[in-house]
Amino acid sequence: MSQARASDRNLIDSMRVHQGELQSLRRAIHADPELGFEERRTGDRIEAYLRALGLPVERGIGRTGLVAVIEGHRTDSGATIGLRADMDAIPVHELGTVPWRSCAPGRMHGCGHDGHCAILLGAAKHLAGTRRFNGKVFLYFQPGEEGHAGAREMIRDGLFERYPADRVFALHNWPSLPAGVIAFNAGPMMAAIDRFSIHIEGKGGHGAHPHQAVDPILIGSQIVSMVHTIVSRNVDPLHEAVISFQSFQSGAPEALSVIPSAATLHGMVKWFKPEVQRVLRSRLIETAEGVARAMGAVASVRYEDLYPPTVNAPAEAALLERVARRVVGDANVIADLLPSMGSEDFAFMLMERPGAYFRLGQGMQEGRFLHHPEYDFNDETIPVGSAIFAALVEEALPL
Ligand SMILES: [Zn+2]
Ligand SMILES: [Zn+2]
Repeated sequence: MSQARASDRNLIDSMRVHQGELQSLRRAIHADPELGFEERRTGDRIEAYLRALGLPVERGIGRTGLVAVIEGHRTDSGATIGLRADMDAIPVHELGTVPWRSCAPGRMHGCGHDGHCAILLGAAKHLAGTRRFNGKVFLYFQPGEEGHAGAREMIRDGLFERYPADRVFALHNWPSLPAGVIAFNAGPMMAAIDRFSIHIEGKGGHGAHPHQAVDPILIGSQIVSMVHTIVSRNVDPLHEAVISFQSFQSGAPEALSVIPSAATLHGMVKWFKPEVQRVLRSRLIETAEGVARAMGAVASVRYEDLYPPTVNAPAEAALLERVARRVVGDANVIADLLPSMGSEDFAFMLMERPGAYFRLGQGMQEGRFLHHPEYDFNDETIPVGSAIFAALVEEALPL
């Protein structure tokens, strides 16, 4: 037991041996960001690294997704585990000045998925070199996490029929936690997200003669106010919910004295429990349609389920906790993290297989959180993430 603990503590040090090459690879991916379902050069880099380790690789699962397999010294247990990294960048113009900053205007690795790829490749290098486990490891390199539901795309492409993991794990870097801290809980981690649009058909007219028009801007404003009463007055205060609008479009800035004929609003809805989603969806539609009707207009609402909630399974969270305490020490583990209202499409994998999702602290620099135009992944944390993934495999699939 004490021997195992010593070797686990050394795991991060042994991962650090590959820090240089993984950091270079991470920065190469950072400099060449690709958006969801366009991750071809990223896939080329990942494939080349995995093939150099002697691993079989399949491309094109979930369009630009990629899967590799590592077999243990023995495989007669029949046990399997899936580890996921997401690969896509975001449509933000990078303002950072690091030498490896984005070469593509309007695209950057602002969510650190470049780091996630490097971490999983570091784990692959260790596992392919040692193979101290009985079973198979599937490495899922997933496209399009940023709103494209790339995980669902891989699942629809037969991911779990062709590479069936008994349990799945994934991480996300987290700037506002100290570098190297591992944080999670044994239940809901991230909220579900839905999106909606509300189109209001009023009646255009002259701004000086508003009584002859039906003003969609005023109606839209009432709808925004009324929709903001749904969470405070229709949802049980002990349940979590958020509704936010992200755009309100109508008219033209140069059209003086013109009441436009239509307006369109866009927004998103967050929830954890299906019964809360039902309330949010029905009240949103009733409110928008009802307010518009009362004011002489017609509103049509489009409501779309996007990502389900990301929920850790208790047994896998317990496994993660054991491993994390051994690898990074008790002082660097938060096992009762509060859920976040953010969303994550690893949720689709957790709907299919038990598993756990955790955060890896980055030690935030100057307030640069995820999606900030000067955000950059902290390379010092690559060995920590790789060590947790590798230790999860060795713990879940003992020789
Ligand atoms: Zn993101
Ligand atoms: Zn992300």
